[in-house]
Amino acid sequence: MSSINWFPGHMAKALKQMSEEISKVDMVIYVLDARAPFSCLNPQFETVASNKPILYIVNKADLVDEAKLVSVKNKLISQNPLYDCVILNSTLSGANKQIEPIMRKLCDAKITKYRNKGIKVNLRAMVIGVPNSGKSTLINNLCGIKKAITGDKAGVTRGRQWVSLKNGFELLDTPGTLWPNLENKKVAQNLAYIGSIRNEVLDINELALEFVGSIRNEYKQNLENRYKININEEKTNLEVLDEIAEKSHFLLKGNEIDYDRVCFTIIDDFRKGRLGKIFLDN
Ligand code: GDP
Repeated sequence: MSSINWFPGHMAKALKQMSEEISKVDMVIYVLDARAPFSCLNPQFETVASNKPILYIVNKADLVDEAKLVSVKNKLISQNPLYDCVILNSTLSGANKQIEPIMRKLCDAKITKYRNKGIKVNLRAMVIGVPNSGKSTLINNLCGIKKAITGDKAGVTRGRQWVSLKNGFELLDTPGTLWPNLENKKVAQNLAYIGSIRNEVLDINELALEFVGSIRNEYKQNLENRYKININEEKTNLEVLDEIAEKSHFLLKGNEIDYDRVCFTIIDDFRKGRLGKIFLDN
């Protein structure tokens, strides 16, 4: 993980930029990946949010046991009465029915103020979140048509765009990323596992080994079912990886393990939800 290009100075600049952007909107929609929601959060964000309403979207909920997400939601909304949270699978249509009433509720003070003056107000919301958390998918879902570009590679969302919703809101898709604390090893690893950090700057082999180590106890069954292997306590993480490779026939000439292939496969299987529902310690 040492190869991630990151300096604390970037954070200060990004926070300053974000605080300027926030001053132009009425609320923030903060998209988090349900598999590691707290690792997706920038710990300093609230200080720059200057008491604007925040709607946390705990997205990709289909990839996690929902029972785990109840306490996540409670923790997120307990911080401030201006915060709310929706647990969501943004690939399913109809997210607007869940979200739009909450957006209006969070902006109620402004709506009422203008209504009393007889003015129909336009409201602005900014969508933020780490790469690959599902921002574009959510925006497309809320628009009802494909406006933002989506992809399963980190950093696909580019450029700045405002899109209008039928309920009178305008959404700003933010180009920059307000990174969480990447100096925290667990945070950085989780973000790498969920595909927020570009593969090019990661050592996938090292990552896969760490990943197997971190889920092999709680999610032993997921690994065993997916790869038709048996995990016991004596096996090292490397031995587990070797067994996955052998069972999957990821071998090179001379029956050597194809580590690149097996490591990529494990991480990709997790990212795409093929390993089943997994909630990372975060
Ligand atoms: P962005 O970089 O934050 O804009 O993320 P994208 O919207 O491009 O989504 C990244 C990947 O996650 C895409 O492959 C999406 O199809 C997928 N995705 C987005 N939301 C969900 C979700 O709720 N559940 C699942 N399973 N996949 C999702």
